[in-house]
Amino acid sequence: MARRVVILGAGYAGVRSALTLESESSRDEAEIILVNKHNYHHFMAQLHESAAGVTGNKDMRISLGEIFDETRVKQIKDVVLRILPKDNRVILGDGTIDYDYLIVGLGSEPEYFNIPGLEQHSLTLRSLNSAKLIRAHIENNFATFKSNPLRRELLTIVVGGAGFTGIELTGEMADWVPKLAKEYDIQEKMVSVINIEAAATILKGYDRKLIDNAYEILRNKGIRIITGTAIEGVTENEVRLSNGEIIKTRNFIWTGGIRANRLIAQSGFTTAARGRAKVNRYLQSVDYPNVYLVGDNAFIVNQATGEVMGPTAQVAIQSGRLAALNILADIRGEGLKECNPRELGRVVSLGRKAAVGKVGREYRTTGRVAGLLKEAIQWKYLFSLGGFRLVAKKLLK
Ligand code: NAD
Repeated sequence: MARRVVILGAGYAGVRSALTLESESSRDEAEIILVNKHNYHHFMAQLHESAAGVTGNKDMRISLGEIFDETRVKQIKDVVLRILPKDNRVILGDGTIDYDYLIVGLGSEPEYFNIPGLEQHSLTLRSLNSAKLIRAHIENNFATFKSNPLRRELLTIVVGGAGFTGIELTGEMADWVPKLAKEYDIQEKMVSVINIEAAATILKGYDRKLIDNAYEILRNKGIRIITGTAIEGVTENEVRLSNGEIIKTRNFIWTGGIRANRLIAQSGFTTAARGRAKVNRYLQSVDYPNVYLVGDNAFIVNQATGEVMGPTAQVAIQSGRLAALNILADIRGEGLKECNPRELGRVVSLGRKAAVGKVGREYRTTGRVAGLLKEAIQWKYLFSLGGFRLVAKKLLK
């Protein structure tokens, strides 16, 4: 009889798990159920574009019905409230579901580090709706400025954190300014975009040469970058910094870090740093071997190198595939494979048509070429979800 595999979350990891099971297993081996709170998969890595209105929400998502054969992957649109791993059961908003195997890919949420006022007074980039909210919030403040011309804080956009998310968003915001200023009839020089980073540099841990290129590109866009300075408090209209400076703003977006979805710890899984579940070399929970944790939900270590892997799309995709293959191996009574994810490189976009990127150990690229490389990676990803059919559909749209 087919074993029931339930996958929680249709992010990069969950979608890849379901696609792998769909293509690699037979109906007699696995019944595949995918639970997600929306009936679409969104392109998390491009949300910054949506926040700045570059791309509409529809371009940022793809319906699950277009990705999967619905007779093979049953989709349930619902919210996961709790996992009961001792009972092999998941509590959903509207009912419960039992499983033989579970793959948990419920993604991340912002990490607020208990900084006073931060959670209450910041916008975050975590979903399509939150990106839409950032856009609407900023537009609303720009629209209000004409009737409150003394309130420059309405025109000050502050991004907290200069990791990859913060830098991509800051670049996008700066490119949006001319359009915003025109739309709301405001002088461009009245608008400021500021990025604040606690570490000594932006893009900490990245290639030094490319960091320098990124600084140059961002500064040429008129962005003020403050490094070595932590955000210590936030109110409705100001951000307090560790150097004593207070920045007045009504548009504060927090990109200072992420942690695993709180359901992981709440459901009793043993966790490591940032609420990520401890998994063994096969990605099984150390507590329950029929539960696999993938992507941002797992503390993933490359077994060959000992490297702790970051919560990136590349790692999510590879872990999602491995979890599916290991479940299938277990069903077939075969040996499981170890987790050895690799990062092929990183491309960081810096607003429209510019980026810096490193591929493998050697190849570095900046500017327009890097921007094109990033676009190519996005198309390749779309192709991996649905082949020429989906690519053609997006192109012809
Ligand atoms: P992150 O943790 O990588 O970066 C957060 C940044 O915020 C850090 O540099 C940190 O020093 C800073 N910070 C923390 N507290 C602060 C404070 N109080 N004041 C000021 N700065 C503070 O988080 P992220 O950027 O959201 O990235 C999450 C993961 O996603 C990472 O693994 C990242 O590599 C990945 N990612 C990759 C890409 C890409 O490859 N293009 C894009 C986005 C995200």
